[in-house]
Amino acid sequence: MMIKEYLKHQIISRTVSKIPFSILGKMTQTNLIIPYYHIVSDNEVLHVKHLYEYKNIKQFTDDIDFLLKNYSPISLRDFLANLDNDLPLPKNAFLLTFDDGFREVHDVIAPILLEKGVPATFFINSAFVDNQELCYQHKASILTVCIEKRVTGNLINGLNRILDIESIKSTAEEIRYRMLSITYRDRNLLDKIARLLDMDFSRYLKENRPYLTSHQIQKLLKDGFTIGAHSIDHPPYPLLHLSEQVRQTLESVRSIKSTFGLDYGVFAFPNTDQHVSKLFFSKINGAGIIDASFGNRGMMSESISNHFQRFSLEKPLIPAQRIIAIQYMRKMMRVMTGNSKIKRT
Ligand SMILES: [Zn+2]
Repeated sequence: MMIKEYLKHQIISRTVSKIPFSILGKMTQTNLIIPYYHIVSDNEVLHVKHLYEYKNIKQFTDDIDFLLKNYSPISLRDFLANLDNDLPLPKNAFLLTFDDGFREVHDVIAPILLEKGVPATFFINSAFVDNQELCYQHKASILTVCIEKRVTGNLINGLNRILDIESIKSTAEEIRYRMLSITYRDRNLLDKIARLLDMDFSRYLKENRPYLTSHQIQKLLKDGFTIGAHSIDHPPYPLLHLSEQVRQTLESVRSIKSTFGLDYGVFAFPNTDQHVSKLFFSKINGAGIIDASFGNRGMMSESISNHFQRFSLEKPLIPAQRIIAIQYMRKMMRVMTGNSKIKRT
């Protein structure tokens, strides 16, 4: 973003955040907000470090206090009952969600939410439960950390060979860019680079246990939290064939439902649901195992009746109040230009 534009953005969001949020909700016809996070930690998390910034415990707790002051928390069950017209939602409701099923959900997030009485839904990748496998994007973050620690001429030559490119500059920026540009389809390259670096991902999984275990998930369910699927192994949906989009979705929902004995089925798209077709939704809804699905395109309306858009409360790394003000502001602009509803073909 250009500096001038950024400053304009800052000034407008500051002004908008001074308007009571109940009025902003009315102005944008938004009675329910669905924020999402990935992780909350006071520590440096290597498998996430190079992917995005995240909030520490204090920042997260402040966000939750802000939400509780201005909105009413609802559970996924209330939300689904409202979808079936069985239950009206309270005014200015929020449904809190978290993606990727990190161990911090159990260790950090759930205890805070339990203390504050806030329900939440955690979206989990079926292939990563119990730390069976590492997500390709998390591998890329770990490898970036490893390479930065010991860049040598030999290492750069090895990387050039594996990535089949002329020459990588040995700057931290270039290395990070190269690692994070490795696509889902080429994810086997990450394992080759790991071998070059003597990085043992199974040891990393064993020692760090980045994801939730079945046992921890059972405990979260017992504490009243809800869970949903987030695909099998976090592929970029816009780049998949329709049949693979459907397989990743239905298999992960089936697996999460049957493993944990759920009487509901929900799904959140990994990365983005942009360019996902109407036909995809008719196929997954036709299977009869999904009650609702969630995207992450910001505060927008949807043309699919049981699909809902969410916005991130960790990006940018500023307090919830400002992020939500920005979301209202964007929605107002979209309403004014007739672009507030996502159209699907
Ligand atoms: Zn995700």
